[in-house]
Amino acid sequence: MLNIDLHCHSNVSDGVLPPADVVARAAANGVHALALTDHDDVAGIAAAQAAAETAGVVLIPGVEISVTWRGQTVHIVGLRIDPLHPDLAGGLAGIRRGRIERARRMGDDLARSGITGAYEGAFGYAVNKEMVGRTHFARWLVAQGHAPDMRSAFKRFLTRGNPGYVEHEWTALENAVGWIRASGGMAVIAHPGRYAFNARELHLLLDAFRALGGEGIEVITGSHHPSEYGKFADLARAFGLKASRGADFHAPGESIDLGRLPALPHYCQPVWQGWPELADHFSPSLA
Ligand code: AMP
Ligand code: MN
Ligand code: MN
Ligand code: MN
Repeated sequence: MLNIDLHCHSNVSDGVLPPADVVARAAANGVHALALTDHDDVAGIAAAQAAAETAGVVLIPGVEISVTWRGQTVHIVGLRIDPLHPDLAGGLAGIRRGRIERARRMGDDLARSGITGAYEGAFGYAVNKEMVGRTHFARWLVAQGHAPDMRSAFKRFLTRGNPGYVEHEWTALENAVGWIRASGGMAVIAHPGRYAFNARELHLLLDAFRALGGEGIEVITGSHHPSEYGKFADLARAFGLKASRGADFHAPGESIDLGRLPALPHYCQPVWQGWPELADHFSPSLA
């Protein structure tokens, strides 16, 4: 069976490895097809594509777009996007500009709690100076001794009610799905188990997403506890959504590694069903 991993990050967003190293690591882990899905940027796809050709991996161009829906942040993964499409590229550039302004406010908020230099510090961890986020602040906070590890950095700081958390309006769901579709891609709701929605709100989100032309939902992800897999597989089926699988890898040792995930439940319809690049590259017995 093919090992397909459709969610991961390079140092173009908040991962630590350059895009080519992410691809090489995936290949070493036995991944056959990998989607690079950096937050709000597609700048790593060309390098990942070149590395994938060398490694014999199929690279799926992807992105993870930050959205605000009913006052909460939701992440929408785009798969098989065209990174050069002007609607998508322009939309993402706008989100990245908002991130820089947000980082400034995060730094100011931390300074009010006596932690100075966080804005400059976070930028020191952002290889791509256009794409700064909470992970870069968390890495700096850990390095400065303000938290023992990433987990506690997010628990003590950077989350609602704690120093360094600021409200931020991301783009609308319809924009994210619209840009992905305009560029020829498929929209997928990332890690649905991570959102603080009740069942009714989650159903409303799935309905709205479907109505906009969204097609998939992550069922097997590094962000889900194994006890949640069944729930989201059932929801995918109930809402007529295809199922995706991705580690959400950011850094070696930080969470689940590339491709190291269980298979989708047998009754799910995989998002990759019928993708010609898989059929072209792998024998039908594998695909
Ligand atoms: P941002 O898009 O800047 O708000 O940053 C969100 C990113 O922070 C996510 O994609 C994760 O990589 C990371 N993150 C969020 N919550 C946690 C957590 N509790 N522990 C570790 N990383 C987290
Ligand atoms: Mn991230
Ligand atoms: Mn995410
Ligand atoms: Mn992610």
